[in-house]
Amino acid sequence: MPDYGYGRGLWGSVGDRLVSGAPFAMTTSLNDGVDLSEAVEIAPRVWWVGTFLENNRFQCHVYLIEQGDQSVLIGPGSALTASEVIRKVDQVVGVDHVRWLVCSHADPDIIGALPALEAHGLHPDAQIVTHWRDENLIVHSGTRLPFWRIERHQWRLALVDRTVRFVFTPYLHFAGAFATFDESTGTLFSSDLFGGLDAERALYAESSHYFDAIRSFHEHYMPSREILIHALGLLRKLPLERIAPQHGQIIPRHLIEPIMDQLETLECGIYLLSREEPGLAFLLGANRTIHDVVDTLVREQHFSAVATFLADLAVRNLRAQYLEIWAGEGDLMLVFERADDFAGHPGVPPDDVRHVIDGGAAPDGTRVIWALRSPVSERRSGAAVIGFATPTEIDEATHEVIAQITGLVEVGLEREVMRRTAEMERVAWHERAVHDSLTGLYNRVSLADVLDRVFTVDDGATAPRLAVLMVDVDHFKEINDTFSHAMGDRVLQHVAAAITQSVRPSDVVFRYGGEEFLVILNDVDVDDAAGVAERLRQNVSVPSAQRPTVTVSVGLVLRGRGETPDAVMARADAALYRAKTAGRDRVVVDASVETSPCEGTALAT
Ligand code: GH3
Ligand code: MG
Ligand code: MG
Repeated sequence: MPDYGYGRGLWGSVGDRLVSGAPFAMTTSLNDGVDLSEAVEIAPRVWWVGTFLENNRFQCHVYLIEQGDQSVLIGPGSALTASEVIRKVDQVVGVDHVRWLVCSHADPDIIGALPALEAHGLHPDAQIVTHWRDENLIVHSGTRLPFWRIERHQWRLALVDRTVRFVFTPYLHFAGAFATFDESTGTLFSSDLFGGLDAERALYAESSHYFDAIRSFHEHYMPSREILIHALGLLRKLPLERIAPQHGQIIPRHLIEPIMDQLETLECGIYLLSREEPGLAFLLGANRTIHDVVDTLVREQHFSAVATFLADLAVRNLRAQYLEIWAGEGDLMLVFERADDFAGHPGVPPDDVRHVIDGGAAPDGTRVIWALRSPVSERRSGAAVIGFATPTEIDEATHEVIAQITGLVEVGLEREVMRRTAEMERVAWHERAVHDSLTGLYNRVSLADVLDRVFTVDDGATAPRLAVLMVDVDHFKEINDTFSHAMGDRVLQHVAAAITQSVRPSDVVFRYGGEEFLVILNDVDVDDAAGVAERLRQNVSVPSAQRPTVTVSVGLVLRGRGETPDAVMARADAALYRAKTAGRDRVVVDASVETSPCEGTALAT
């Protein structure tokens, strides 16, 4: 066997890391030390002879299987890269040693280099290795080379020290598409399949994150998932060591399986959703964005995560200052903004937002506003606002991204607004249910609940620290009778206010019945409680020109250890009764469960 001198490339070092994994695999990037201005040996006598074009995400990777004067050029490349390919092939073996030119399909980035290669001087018996469907198109490149058809040769080409096999993957991206597999090194030249669009100048994929680059490419260039899965099924049967695609990065063995798994779940043909032709840079960003939005929507229960993600995106990609989203049902509007971590709180949309929500045109200026519509209900609607430092016009490509994302955001918002308005209605209903409409105090509905909770907390304290006050307006019936029921109501409002201002915010005041009130005092001893009750009594009796003066009688009890709500209430009632029978306008303290000197003492008469 002739000595091809392999090892003068980088395979010696790169290959160690690539194949055996040791000793550098854990610490060194596969791309370290790879000089892309030279041919790179990626496996024994398999060379990358491609080019990295500036400002082009379609990198054309051309590969050479070095076989002396039977050498094989795989995917000869585009007219743009021909001179580099020629230079690199000449470094390894000489273009005149290239006997086989494998053209897996007839795209210009594969066959565009043919005329230049022929002009430079290929092997005199050079042939194009391809399928008949491709041949019909490849002739249009102007090539004069003869064709060697894979389907006439059992899909195999025997070389000097190895055999390459061809795997038919029709309609994956081209009617006659196929992949080429080098049995001796386990290298799959996959052409467009596994290709990625990436701005990075790296020959090797370093992690399964490379799938992001693959994903956008496949979604937009592969027509259908069924065809893709069929092809993957065929390729999975091969003992693959690495995949060398025509675009993107070379996939080392350990990433093949995870990337194939991800590819299998990919929805292809997304490009069909795009109405206009928005360009590649846009598609890359949009795709990733749309996926991230979907991911976030699926994973996160709350819209705040989606809004946070979108805001970060707007700030990063559009250099916006902020993003806010308005959404709601009818007049009940929520605003999601950074100030409250996009938790969403009720708000009133400013005029420009309201205008857009109502179907008006978006204004020009520093705020870019567009409407959001519920996919389900006309009553639910909203708007998104991107704020800029200076008046900004959004370009068409970005508009296209926004249009695609908007649909997704609307779905997420729908869910959130439904959840939140239901919650807000529940809260409002609860507020109505537990509050007395005349005084705004708690009504009796929630009393049992509150007592239960407060008593449970008290049970945990070393000594009981709770007092309950039963307050009843004296001779109230006379107020109604002498003045009017409306004046009676006003007096009740005054009593409620007087009680509330006599206690701390942590104390709880209920309207217990018609002109009866109940107060729970937290964290007090008997003297504190008696002081509060006395202050309360005095505050109620303050005269005013607006209403007749009233007095109250108060029964006060300190809760005994472990005492039940019923027992406490019964004692409070009894103390109140004593206050009434003792002449009204006074506080009676029942400290019977305590050993208190105040027991049974009327503090005021
Ligand atoms: P006592 O000093 O013994 O408590 O005498 P009282 O007149 O306050 O007691 P009574 O229970 O006989 O009368 C309470 C009155 O309160 C009867 C009812 O008409 C009136 N009342 C109950 N709820 C309201 C209300 O919401 N508004 C008004 N204006 N009056 C009410
Ligand atoms: Mg009364
Ligand atoms: Mg009464």
